[in-house]
Amino acid sequence: MENCIFCKIIAGEIPSAKVYEDDDMLIIKDINPQADVHYLLLPKEHYANIVEMTDAQAQTLAGCIKKLSAMVDELGLKDGFRLVSNKGKHGCQSVEHLHIHILGGSQLSENMA
Ligand code: AMP
Ligand code: ZN
Repeated sequence: MENCIFCKIIAGEIPSAKVYEDDDMLIIKDINPQADVHYLLLPKEHYANIVEMTDAQAQTLAGCIKKLSAMVDELGLKDGFRLVSNKGKHGCQSVEHLHIHILGGSQLSENMA
């Protein structure tokens, strides 16, 4: 998708700190970390958010999360983590390419809002 920063990262047109890549997804370090460990899981296919996600994209995303679950120790998340996907204005979504924040590395706040 033209003018999508995450599509440009996926295409290798913008550098990123990649921690994992396969045919379906990229996991990168967030450029502005909000926790000791803060990654972004980016499906390679462009769609804006979970509301616009097709059934096939949902199936692929589920597979990505399953793969993530097998990597938590090596990603520094063995004591737990939080997955967040912001949508729209109230959710404070700033990049319109679906992404899942992966937060952890130390004790997170109980307050999620
Ligand atoms: P959201 O506000 O949920 O749309 O999250 C977008 C996230 O993308 C923010 O946490 C940003 O810090 C992060 N971000 C924006 N540009 C980059 C980039 N070039 N590399 C890594 N993370 C980025
Ligand atoms: Zn995109």
